Amino acid sequence: MGVRIIIAASLRTFTNRTPEVEVQADTVSAALSALTDEYPEAARGLFDENGDLRGFVSIYVNDRDIRTLKGLGTKLSDGDEIYLLPAIAGGACESVISTERMKEVKIEDKEIRRYNNHLQLKEISIKGQKRIMAGRVLIAGIGALGGVVAERLAAAGVGTIGLADDREVLLDGLQVQTIHSSRDIDRPRAASARDRLKKLNPNVTTVTYQDKLSADNIEEIIEDYDIVVDATDSFVTRYLISDACALHNKPDVFGAMYQFEGFVTVLCTGDAPCYRCLYPSPPPAGIVPSCAASGVMNALPGIIGSLMEAEVLKLLTGSGEPLVGKAIRLDSWNLQYRMIHTASDPGCAVCGSAPSIRTVQDIDYEDFCGLREDPDEEPIEGIEAEELARRIMSEEKITIIDVREPHERAIRRFPGTLAIPIGQLARRQKELDPEVDTIFVCKEGKRSILAIRTLREAGYTGPMYNLKGGLENAAQIIFPHEGAWL
Ligand SMILES: [Zn+2]
Repeated sequence: MGVRIIIAASLRTFTNRTPEVEVQADTVSAALSALTDEYPEAARGLFDENGDLRGFVSIYVNDRDIRTLKGLGTKLSDGDEIYLLPAIAGGACESVISTERMKEVKIEDKEIRRYNNHLQLKEISIKGQKRIMAGRVLIAGIGALGGVVAERLAAAGVGTIGLADDREVLLDGLQVQTIHSSRDIDRPRAASARDRLKKLNPNVTTVTYQDKLSADNIEEIIEDYDIVVDATDSFVTRYLISDACALHNKPDVFGAMYQFEGFVTVLCTGDAPCYRCLYPSPPPAGIVPSCAASGVMNALPGIIGSLMEAEVLKLLTGSGEPLVGKAIRLDSWNLQYRMIHTASDPGCAVCGSAPSIRTVQDIDYEDFCGLREDPDEEPIEGIEAEELARRIMSEEKITIIDVREPHERAIRRFPGTLAIPIGQLARRQKELDPEVDTIFVCKEGKRSILAIRTLREAGYTGPMYNLKGGLENAAQIIFPHEGAWL
């Protein structure tokens, strides 16, 4: 085993498009010599006539810039990764808005005052602001993250903002979805967001899409936009958006959150990978809980949403250094962040050298994400909350397994159950009686399905049922009397 040299897309002209090379070397300098022995052209790209490393190339060893280590003399060990990345200087990123479109925008006196904060920045100034005003940005998912991006882009004066969301405003979301307010509960999120943006900045045109994004409508929708912001929380939609963006050359500004952590990157530009390059396959259905099921720290959507907004502004103005070929992962609670280098996968099914997906119609996204039932698999039987309540009241002999984590059980207590987290189920199956019905419960009714599958695979044969919709929907039905639920 040696060290791997990963080459950013824009430097691959020197390596016959090879994205990575494995060499034997004990220093960065020796590794680069090995690389240039194999690809002599690379020497021209990396070093100037004096043999010094060119200023625009950044070299990272295991994600650390060699300038913070020992430079070219940095020692290497087996398994180390060297990343060659051209530093993109300010202004080097090209705007997604053509000069013609920029010139068509007229700025009124009132707008000069409204956007004065941008106009004073030489990196944005009048041309950058005109590009922002000419910009058409589609935001998919108007929850916590999408709401922040939508509000801030509207305030920044983005010409047209598309709001794609097929859900309604819920009380449960209001804490983090500050674009919506209490009186919007039960209204479509797209319409609620549209009304908010109109108040914020009447100069912005909004378009709402209230149908679920699918392979049937996504291509037609994104066609009208310069940039797509993916603020959804479903793997099905993420792959769908990324595939459509990769196939239609639209930058996909991607953000995601989990509890205290956030992730932001720009996908699907010429130099950036697509989501499929980063994650060729999704995690098994149900294994990654949604934000609603796992919680999110209140400040996080503001931080991550604003980082996403900044990426959109950089792409629109063609200024700054966008997260292209890079991703940021931020732990807001310990305030630590990591810049990760991302690279296109030459074997990617969508943007690789021999793609197998040429249109979004080529793939069944629900099936790909494991959401379609396998016809060969024994179906999982569900039980309604009313039925479970009846069986509890009639003191029927049943076992109820609560697969939630301890802190979740502390929010909604469910007495009389056996609490076994999914990870312990297989080895604790002896605690179950195969002669009686076992009913699995969790917050949303998804992890409980995974629990039943896990036990089946572990060889348990007793009758198992899933509480449909989870305890979230059953709270008022199963123990309606006061005090049973905290
Ligand atoms: Zn790809």
